[in-house]
Amino acid sequence: MSREVPEEVLRTPLVHRLLERAEVERPAYTHLDCSNRHEPVEDTLTWADLLAHVRAVAAKLREVIQPGDRVAITARQDLSYVVAFFGALYAGAVAVPLSAPDVRAHRERLVGVLNDCDADIWLTSEALVERLKEFAEAEPVPAPREIVAIDTLPLDPADRSLPAPVSPQDPAYLQYTSGTTRSPAGVIITQRALSAACWQICDAYDVGEHTTCVGWIPFFHDMGLAQLLAGTMHAGGRTVFIAPLEFIRRPERWLLLMSAYPNTLTAAPNFAYDLVTETVPEAKRAEYDLSTVSIALSGSEPVRVATVRDFLAAYEPHGFPRGAFRPSYGLAEATVYVASGDSSGPVVTEVDGREVVEIGWPRGQRVRVVARADDVLPAKGDVGEIWVKGPNVAAGYWRRPELTAEVFDAELDGERGWLRTGDLGSIRNGRLSVTGRLKDLIIIDGRNHSPHDIEETVAAAHPILGADRIAAFSVALDDGEGVVVVAERARKASDFEEDEVARAAARAVAERHDVRLKAFLLVKPGGLPRTSSGKVARSAARTRYWEPDGTESPHGS
Ligand code: ATP
Ligand code: MG
Repeated sequence: MSREVPEEVLRTPLVHRLLERAEVERPAYTHLDCSNRHEPVEDTLTWADLLAHVRAVAAKLREVIQPGDRVAITARQDLSYVVAFFGALYAGAVAVPLSAPDVRAHRERLVGVLNDCDADIWLTSEALVERLKEFAEAEPVPAPREIVAIDTLPLDPADRSLPAPVSPQDPAYLQYTSGTTRSPAGVIITQRALSAACWQICDAYDVGEHTTCVGWIPFFHDMGLAQLLAGTMHAGGRTVFIAPLEFIRRPERWLLLMSAYPNTLTAAPNFAYDLVTETVPEAKRAEYDLSTVSIALSGSEPVRVATVRDFLAAYEPHGFPRGAFRPSYGLAEATVYVASGDSSGPVVTEVDGREVVEIGWPRGQRVRVVARADDVLPAKGDVGEIWVKGPNVAAGYWRRPELTAEVFDAELDGERGWLRTGDLGSIRNGRLSVTGRLKDLIIIDGRNHSPHDIEETVAAAHPILGADRIAAFSVALDDGEGVVVVAERARKASDFEEDEVARAAARAVAERHDVRLKAFLLVKPGGLPRTSSGKVARSAARTRYWEPDGTESPHGS
């Protein structure tokens, strides 16, 4: 059983830490602006600067909101985001961390979430005000009462205001889920849950004053928010970040971040580790000394065995410490963090006859794997649904009481209030492994198949197919369930026979899983629906490529 989160932590709203931190003159948050330049330009706020800016935002918000009103953060991934988020918390508002409207791929999410959360104050920077006005007019979103450009607010050296009084049960912000299996749901993160999650993260990864959190994950994503904004505030370390697109444009910028500061902590899903493994040539790799990395956590989707293996093979020779690689599991409904590995390095284990990277131990919360007779699923071996109970579990979904009761108030051994994660896994010797999602599970003739397994098999079946570009899902047929695979072909693929690719995929799936594919659809690069965090959305893929009446849709190839 892990240590419990101390009471003092649970009672102290995160933003109160800012007052202690500001007493020492040290850098707090640094944005490396890489736009249009070769050498990134550093923009830094010390803790004292941050407090002054945050007070300016809070002073403005106190004029225009009531405590508990939602305030949307629609800033770019730069220092204005940091100031806006903590400013909203300082004012006692309910922050809604979103994105600027300029990334096309996130627009749909932005529209959906703004309709759901009812935030009539939007915080942004001056450079974006016009664009946000246009966005508010062009898109079906409730018109904001005010768009506040926080970089135009006056700083008042005489402002000694304290954070608005809040209780631990009050909501601090709404964390919208990634939208992998549905449209994003607003999870109500209380002050207490936020403080608990920060403590858990710092405890699990040994984050302290000497840690530099580095990375590029979007702040509106729970992993980005926790890793880059909240952990530093809690522990008093430092954060250095770039915008997500700057990483995608030049993946080695991430290596630069990891190696340029002492004791770095970073986080990313599989695709990012793959990207630096596949696109950075050996000569470039040699420019970075990664012995500075304390923690590189991998999460937000199943940690792939091949990703870990290839990344370690590529970067251990350049100093990356194996023990720094931490498989991690979490979800927005538990604020962010649930469990992770320790410093002994990633462990591959077999669950249900397949290899998975073991996650590890929960911190400051309890985790159970529950297989019950009334469950929809035939439990297999020691696999069941992962349930979580702890101070980091959120208060529920915003304005969805029925779903909240269903997900957040399960009963186990006479005790209520367990969170049903909807994820499947097993616990052996106290160590959690995650095998997939209940909703995505493919059940054929009474046998369970994880879509990840089938996708991995298909990815290896032909050179124009690849990991992270495939969706496997079940479809209802007249005589039961069938499996359909939709795969994006590689960008550079030119010389291939579509039929041959389909045959190779079907053959591999039949051999490895004893499953006959109902259909294999090859689509153009980028053809699969994804979440804002880059996860392939299988159910959306089913809707896009497979008509509800069970016929192939015409845009299959
Ligand atoms: P939605 O709930 O809207 O469908 P989402 O579940 O992807 O989207 P998040 O809360 O951001 O939204 O992601 C949490 C989910 O990601 C977990 O419930 C789990 O399915 C998956 N996940 C996170 N970490 C891991 C991991 N290490 N291994 C396997 N799955 C993981
Ligand atoms: Mg979810």
